[in-house]
Parts: sequence; C-alpha cells; structure tokens
Amino acid sequence: MGAAAYFTGEPFTVRELDMIRLLGVSKSYAEARSGARIQALDGFDLEVAAGEFVAILGPSGSGKSTVLKLIAGFDHADSGTVEVGDEPVTTISPRRVLVAQDAALFPWLNVVDNIAFGLRAQGRGHAASITARVHDLVQALGLAGAERRLPSELSGGMKQRVALARALAVEPEVLLLDEPFAALDALSRERLQDVLESAWLTAKPTVVLVTHSVDEAIRLADRVVIVSERPARIVHTAIVTATRPRDIAGLGDVRRTLAAAVRGLPHSASDTQGR
Ligand code: ADP
Repeated sequence: MGAAAYFTGEPFTVRELDMIRLLGVSKSYAEARSGARIQALDGFDLEVAAGEFVAILGPSGSGKSTVLKLIAGFDHADSGTVEVGDEPVTTISPRRVLVAQDAALFPWLNVVDNIAFGLRAQGRGHAASITARVHDLVQALGLAGAERRLPSELSGGMKQRVALARALAVEPEVLLLDEPFAALDALSRERLQDVLESAWLTAKPTVVLVTHSVDEAIRLADRVVIVSERPARIVHTAIVTATRPRDIAGLGDVRRTLAAAVRGLPHSASDTQGR
C-alpha cells in the first residue's frame, strides 16, 4: 500500500478495545419556541478504538455536536448506550475533554491561568512543572505575548487556541473537538492541526473531531465518517492509512470520494435554525 492507502465505502466496524461505544443512541430536544421535539439522534452507533483518531463530517444541524456532548457527559441520551472505557457516561469527567465551538473560557482568568486551570484543579504536578507545561503550550499554539490577556481581549481565533491548549494541558484520555479551527485563517489552521497531530502522536488520546473540512479530516484522522442529515447516521466511512505527516495533495482519491459523499447528502430543512 502506498502513501495514499485508504479504504472508503460502506459503514463498517472493526471492534476490539473500544474506548468509546455509542449503540442505538437516541436524543431529542424541545424546540425553544414551539416546544416541538427535534430528533437529533435516533439509533446512532459509533465505536472508537482506544487511541484512534476519528473525524465526523456531515451537514449542519445533523447531530454531530450532540454526539460529542453525550460522550463528554454534558448531556444524556434518551435511550441507548453511551460508554467510555466500558463504563456508562453519567456525568462529565476530566478524563474526557470537550473543546466546544464557543471556546468557553473562564472570563476572569488570563490566558496562562485558563490553560493551567485543569492541571491545578486536578493537582497535577508542582507549580514549576505546570508553569513549564503551560509555557510550552503557549509557544506551540502561537500565544506568546498574550499570556496576561483576559479572554475579552482576545480574538475568536485566539480564544480557540487557548481552549485547545487548556484541553491538551491535561492530556485527557478522550479528546472531543467541535470544529476547533473554524474561526482561524488557513495558515493558523494548518499550524494548529500540526500541534494537535503531534500532541495526539505523543499522548495517543482517543480523539473525535467534528469538522466541515474534508482536508482537515483526511489530514488528521485514522477514520473519517460521514453522517447523514438529522437524525445523524453514519452513511460512509473512509480509513486513511497514509503515513504522517500527510501530504493532502497525495490523497486526491479519498478527498474526492469524501467530498462527493458529503455533497450527495440532502440537508434537513431546519438546518439553519438557531440553537
Ligand atoms: P450539528 O453539530 O451537526 O450542527 P447539533 O448536534 O448541534 O448538530 O444539533 C442537532 C439538532 O438539534 C439541530 O436541529 C439543533 O438545532 C438541535 N439542538 C441541538 N441542541 C439543542 C438544544 N439544546 N435545544 C434545542 N435544540 C437543540
């Protein structure tokens, strides 16, 4: 198999040592104004092996963020199994970290203190080692010079960097990323993709990345799944085995196949509704 080796086709699963297991998961919400039920997920299945990097692509409003929130324990399924490390997810845990789209930072803490927050809260390491770790992340994520700024003094892209740094700082077992690079320009995005990839290669967390970018997905993930419109179902899977760091230019076939699969999806009528 060459550098661009991949499998792409119908959904399938290869299961051993799953870290994340979602089986038959259903989740509905009440629509804010009308109170009507919105079925975000209905019998959704996804299994992710320990240390695997999975990317989820699909239409807006299809239920992708819901999947991440259920794994993180921010929300509960109406029915079905949501397990991490063979245990049902009942609440949030520092072992599972979600970097959400809105980069919810602590507004009263500066950049350094936001990044250090989890390490300090978990009593992980001495002050000096925490300082050194935070310093490394500040450098890696291009935040040098902004260490003492408050979130209100940061651009959207910088807030996302801080949120990613804060998540990487604690080296979680499960890292859940909801379009973490959407607010960034192309160059910054590539740089942060490199940072994420090297953090993943070092600590090998299990990663689930929601993205709208086929290129981002095939650059980073071992497996790319495409989900249907709401309620989300996996309709296409691609296994990307190309060696890292990957050259997207050499992955033209899988890129075209995935882009065509994404384009072929009908979008649900309520995609544009606010949350
Ligand atoms: P995606 O991440 O694919 O854009 P989401 O999981 O965010 O999709 O949302 C799936 C559907 O559920 C959308 O129609 C969305 O508007 C709705 N939804 C999500 N969260 C809530 C909520 N807290 N209250 C009401 N509706 C919600």
